[in-house]
Amino acid sequence: MENTALKIVVLVKHVPDAQFDRHLTDSSNTTDRLTSILSELDEYALEAALQLVETHGGADAGHQVIAMTMGPDGAVAAVKKALQIGATEGVHLSDEALAGSDAAATSLALSATINHIGDVDLVLTGMASTDGETSLVPAQLAERLDLPQVTFASTLELKDDDGGYQIVARRDGDTHLDNIESRLPAVVSVTDQINEPRYPNFKGIMAAKKKPLATLTLSDIGVDAADVGLAGSWTNVESAEPRPPRSHGVVITDEGDAGKQLVDFLEKQKLL
Ligand SMILES: Cc1cc2nc3c(=O)[nH]c(=O)nc-3n(C[C@H](O)[C@H](O)[C@H](O)COP(=O)(O)OP(=O)(O)OC[C@H]3O[C@@H](n4cnc5c(N)ncnc54)[C@H](O)[C@@H]3O)c2cc1C
Repeated sequence: MENTALKIVVLVKHVPDAQFDRHLTDSSNTTDRLTSILSELDEYALEAALQLVETHGGADAGHQVIAMTMGPDGAVAAVKKALQIGATEGVHLSDEALAGSDAAATSLALSATINHIGDVDLVLTGMASTDGETSLVPAQLAERLDLPQVTFASTLELKDDDGGYQIVARRDGDTHLDNIESRLPAVVSVTDQINEPRYPNFKGIMAAKKKPLATLTLSDIGVDAADVGLAGSWTNVESAEPRPPRSHGVVITDEGDAGKQLVDFLEKQKLL
């Protein structure tokens, strides 16, 4: 029996580029997103989606890989990059009222957007964003969507299951491996060990210009502004101060007693 076409949503966050100085805005202690990029850890999620599609009949099989982001106007760049890499279409949830959303508010808005898209078979995310790094959103999304969740997958396959698909994944723990199977639809976060993300090529960059990209607001997805943003978040950054500059550390000059100096230093630090 012909397998059904997959509708995969890949979450791509637009995050401050780590090569530049990252800081919070004075006004509301929220992240200054001026120099932002597609979060590197989400490139693994996008690659995983493209490989699943290619393994199950490719583009001709009618699969959809929808790159989705929540963020201010500039965040559309993350979706455009994902379209260049190979996503088939994009969704950008953008609304001023979302500014300052914490993880709970973010997962509320993202889950409402996924319900708005409808009939989604698989939600793929990175294991964490490279700015907030809370790793809270995937689990919260699964809870809000009432879907099974597989987090920190380092392998991911779909096996045929009676015209549909089953997820087969492995999670590498420190002391053990988990082999996990789940029905679809489901939410899966992947690690940076799962694959080697591809780069956009010239053909992909040109094709991306014609791919559909929808911009949605809170009213489109039926979310009340009071439930998101600084106002609707369960956590707020009360205050923030710059991290003290790193000290230069202790330099040991070996005059034949470097070993003793090192032991003295470690003892003083109560590390021995
Ligand atoms: C330094 C810092 C500390 C923070 N600390 C907290 C905190 O302690 N508690 C809290 O509730 N919030 C916190 N936040 C806010 C939090 O980062 C945002 O709410 C964010 O949108 C969601 O959390 P995250 O980035 O940690 O996502 P994670 O849960 O780390 O992200 C996992 C995956 O979810 C997807 N995802 C996350 N956000 C988006 C998005 N906007 N668009 C598309 N996909 C997305 C991505 O695929 C990402 O790989 C913090 C932010 C910063 C910058």
